[in-house]
Amino acid sequence: MRRDRKNWGRRAVLWLGLCLAGCLYAPYAREAEGRFLRAMEQPAEITDVMGEGTADGDEETVTQKVAYLTFDDGPSTHSGELLDILKEENVKATFFVVGKEDEESREIYKRIVREGHSLGLHSYSHVYKEIYSSADNFQADLWKLKTYLYHITGVSCDIYRFPGGSSTTQMKFPLEEGEKFLEEKGIRYFDWNATAEDAVCVQSAPGVIMKRVLKDALKHDKTVILMHDLNCCKTTLNAVRPLIARLRKEGYTFDRLTRDTILE
Ligand SMILES: [Zn+2]
Repeated sequence: MRRDRKNWGRRAVLWLGLCLAGCLYAPYAREAEGRFLRAMEQPAEITDVMGEGTADGDEETVTQKVAYLTFDDGPSTHSGELLDILKEENVKATFFVVGKEDEESREIYKRIVREGHSLGLHSYSHVYKEIYSSADNFQADLWKLKTYLYHITGVSCDIYRFPGGSSTTQMKFPLEEGEKFLEEKGIRYFDWNATAEDAVCVQSAPGVIMKRVLKDALKHDKTVILMHDLNCCKTTLNAVRPLIARLRKEGYTFDRLTRDTILE
C-alpha cells in the first residue's frame, strides 16, 4: 500500500514535471514551427536568386545598354577638342574619317588611334559623283584611304561607313557589289540607328541635337549614333558632353565599334 502511494506520488511528480516543461517549451515550439513554415515558403525566392548565377540564368537575359558614338567626315577644326572631351569623359568612340593631307589632320588620325578610339574608313574624297559613279571608282577611293591611313597610323582599318549610308540613292552600281568588295577585304560596314541630323550644317542648338539623338537612341539597347566631325558642327561638339551624361543616366555604357561588335 505504501509502495503504491509512493509510486503514485512519483507519477504525479513526473506528470507535473512534464506539464511544466511543456508549458515552458510551448512558446519556443511555436516560434520554431513558425521558423520552419517561413523557411518552407522561402525556397522559391532563394531558387530564383540562385538562378541568376547559373549557366542559364539572367546573365544572358540582362541586356547591356551600349551607346556607340560615331563621328563622320573628320578630321575637322573641332577634332582636337572633341578628343579632349572624350578623354575627360573616359568614352571610346568611332571616327569614320575622310582623306586629308594637312599636318593637323595627320596628327588627328594618330591621336584617334593612340587614345583608343576606332579609326574607320568613310571615303577619301567624299564626293558622291566620284565614289558612287562606278564600282571601280568606289573601290579605288576606299583603297586609297585605307592605304593612306595605314601609312600614317600603322592601322589596317577594317570598319567602314558608306557616305550617306548603305541606303543612299547616289550609288550607280548595286549595293551588293560594294558589299562584296568589303567582305573580300575583311571590312565590315556600319549604318546607324540614331542621328544628330547635323550633316546639313544648320548649327542647331545642342539641346535640339540631343533631343534628335535621344528620340531614337533610347529605343535601342545597342545604339549606333551618327554625328559629324565637320568644321560647321560646332554645336554638335557642344552637345557631346551633355549627351554622354544623359545616356549614362539612362544606363548606357560607351564603346567603340570594331569588326567584331555584336549589335543584336
Ligand atoms: Zn559623310
